[in-house]
Amino acid sequence: MHNVLTYLHENETRFIDELCQYVRFPSVSAQPQHRKDLAACATWLVRRCRQIGLETKLCATPGNPVVIARTPRAKSKGRPHFLVYGHYDVQPPEPFELWKSPPFEPSVKGSSLYARGASDNKGQHLAHLNAIEAYLKTGAQLPCDITFVIEGEEEVGSAHLAPFLRKNRSELRCDTVVISDTSMIGPRHPTLTYSLRGLCAMEIKLHGPSRDLHSGLFGGTVDNPAMALCQLLGQMRDKKGRVTVPGFYDDVRPLSPYERKQMTRQPFNPRAYQKFLGVPKLFGELGYAPIEQRSARPTFEINGLTSGYQGHGSKTIIPAWASAKLTLRLVPNQNPARIRQLVVQHLRKVCPPAVRLEISDGHGGEPYIVSLESNYVQAALGALRKAFGYEPIPVREGGSIPIVNDFKKILKVDTLLLGLALPDDNAHSPNEKFDLGVFAKGMQMSACLWQELAAVS
Ligand SMILES: [Zn+2]
Repeated sequence: MHNVLTYLHENETRFIDELCQYVRFPSVSAQPQHRKDLAACATWLVRRCRQIGLETKLCATPGNPVVIARTPRAKSKGRPHFLVYGHYDVQPPEPFELWKSPPFEPSVKGSSLYARGASDNKGQHLAHLNAIEAYLKTGAQLPCDITFVIEGEEEVGSAHLAPFLRKNRSELRCDTVVISDTSMIGPRHPTLTYSLRGLCAMEIKLHGPSRDLHSGLFGGTVDNPAMALCQLLGQMRDKKGRVTVPGFYDDVRPLSPYERKQMTRQPFNPRAYQKFLGVPKLFGELGYAPIEQRSARPTFEINGLTSGYQGHGSKTIIPAWASAKLTLRLVPNQNPARIRQLVVQHLRKVCPPAVRLEISDGHGGEPYIVSLESNYVQAALGALRKAFGYEPIPVREGGSIPIVNDFKKILKVDTLLLGLALPDDNAHSPNEKFDLGVFAKGMQMSACLWQELAAVS
């Protein structure tokens, strides 16, 4: 193990050079003109994996290819097998004028490397690849088998990943998945994300008169769909910030005292948070701290409202209809289909009688949680602790990462989210960067991780 860490340290400059080569590819999956750049980027990655000593193949999909790279399999059977996921595609760099240096010409300033894709996600999965290189080149004993799955369509929804996992299920069967593609709180607060929120989306439309009506001639005799929509939606949440849909909270898994304690360890300044958001006052479900509200509690949100006349000046009408786009953020163990059913029932029950309610289908996503007591989680926390030298913090994340549910459904395994992106790394924004200190620590973390995970397998 000592050799491995020394190797990582001694080769740091070359690893940075290689990251620079990797981020030069404008592998923007959202833009068709970059199709060739994605292919070239994948080819570069295949060559890099082969240099490391991994058995590597480029797998075609109906979209961009997936790179599969495996450590040479040991003769002894029954070794644990871990899967590392990453993505080589990147977000569009626009608007170019806001970049201080061109997005695909890496530049090092201070301890950061600036380029599109540096932290999301090229630097993060290279950290794992470099750790494996250190094992293979020093001849140190790797206590497990590892397979890298690095795709090229994450930033556009990973449409071909689930079918790919299904097709290669037996080769990819593993004990757990490791992904470094989330954020860490800071270099002194290494972070493991153990829960994600799910989603339930729908669109509702209230129909009133068969056409927009003159509000002077007809006003007072028919209900106004826009008013009815306000009344309907206004009832969905009470003054305490609680969703009023009966049964909505029934399946919410309460926070354990240990989880709540971990939450209080996160540095959080409500004043600074309020200022950052630009709101006159914070608002959330009574009885919960903001960190809990945004990650461990479900919500009912209106994302858009449309009705009536939106043009210049005024137009005295009773609009024919009013509509709203809604999403609910869900937490473990809420089920999107069940929640949808409850919400639909409730909307129908309280909808004003003089309008007709139409509800359209929307997408849904399951919430995710891996138990903090799981051996793998504890092992991963150990690796973070060793590499960063600080007590790691397990966190719940408020957003969703659909591929984590694909791994759960198709491969039947949990995912350890060990993010290496700092909050100010500007992922998806101009001037994306990756902290080179975190890069180095991330490689050490990966080197420790395989020992820790194998020890509890
Ligand atoms: Zn991204």
